[in-house]
Amino acid sequence: MTDRQRILIVDDEKFNRQILSELLLPDYDVFLAKNGEQAIDRARTITALDLILLDVVMPDMDGYEVLRRLRDDERTRAIPVMFVTGMCESKDEAKGLSMGAVDYVLKPFRLAVVRARVRNHMNYIGQRKQLELDAFIDCLTGLHNRRRFDQTMESEWRRATRHRKPISLAMVDIDYFKQYNDTYGHGAGDEALRQIAKAMLKVVNRSGELVARYGGEEFVMLLPEVGRDEAIHIAEKIRYSVEALAINHETSNVASVVTISIGGASIIPCLDGSAVGLLGLADDQLYLAKREGRNFVSWDSIHF
Ligand code: GH3
Ligand code: MG
Ligand code: MG
Repeated sequence: MTDRQRILIVDDEKFNRQILSELLLPDYDVFLAKNGEQAIDRARTITALDLILLDVVMPDMDGYEVLRRLRDDERTRAIPVMFVTGMCESKDEAKGLSMGAVDYVLKPFRLAVVRARVRNHMNYIGQRKQLELDAFIDCLTGLHNRRRFDQTMESEWRRATRHRKPISLAMVDIDYFKQYNDTYGHGAGDEALRQIAKAMLKVVNRSGELVARYGGEEFVMLLPEVGRDEAIHIAEKIRYSVEALAINHETSNVASVVTISIGGASIIPCLDGSAVGLLGLADDQLYLAKREGRNFVSWDSIHF
């Protein structure tokens, strides 16, 4: 999939579809529909549409009806719609806008105006998407933040429960990190956090898997459909790859370099369990890993 924004052009006249797609193709991914039914169908199946340019006057189903049906369907409700209306129907602009259209363009097309209106809208959508993304990213490390983790954890937990599939979770904590900051300074501490984040991402990168910054110098790793043995293997790989970064830590009591401890748990969820419960199990194991002397992986496993 490309990063280009996606637009669906709906018009019963081939000539209009042609003009608009020629105008917009250089900047966007363009899809076409020639009537209302087709428009609704495409809107449901094309993922991540950013805009629908919707002709008002069409023979079988007019634009208003198409918009109404799009709004009635959860899958298409949020897709922005811009009406395309003839000059003589301009009294209908107000109607379109009041139904929730984001804007309108007039026929016959003044191409510079159409391009500008579409571009304004797309810029706005692009910024909004970026803001939404930013809200789930940890600024220091670029990892997902706790908010994203909480959300994903809940949905993966439900999915695992439904499909009776295992799910594994690990808490990761840097060893003697307070001492690291005290010795090398907070800036060096930040840089170490960034490097550790990067090292973890190299290991946990399959689709569905998630590494997030849980807070401070703690990270969390979520591995859906991964059972105990494989999860421990992944955790050991992470522990090793952080050690292999060889970030000097002369005041650590466990090694001469920065290390981490990992506590994990694997479970096949049951209905009376909870994502929070799993997190608690992992946290208990982290405590044990610290008690073992640190730079250590400790794992729980419960099966129902
Ligand atoms: P332990 O091995 O038991 O985990 O000891 P610790 O020193 O790592 O644990 P402790 O919880 O006492 O200290 C955590 C330290 O992490 C203290 C805090 O200053 C540091 N820290 C938390 N967030 C950040 C951050 O964003 N940047 C930097 N540089 N340090 C941070
Ligand atoms: Mg800690
Ligand atoms: Mg620590």
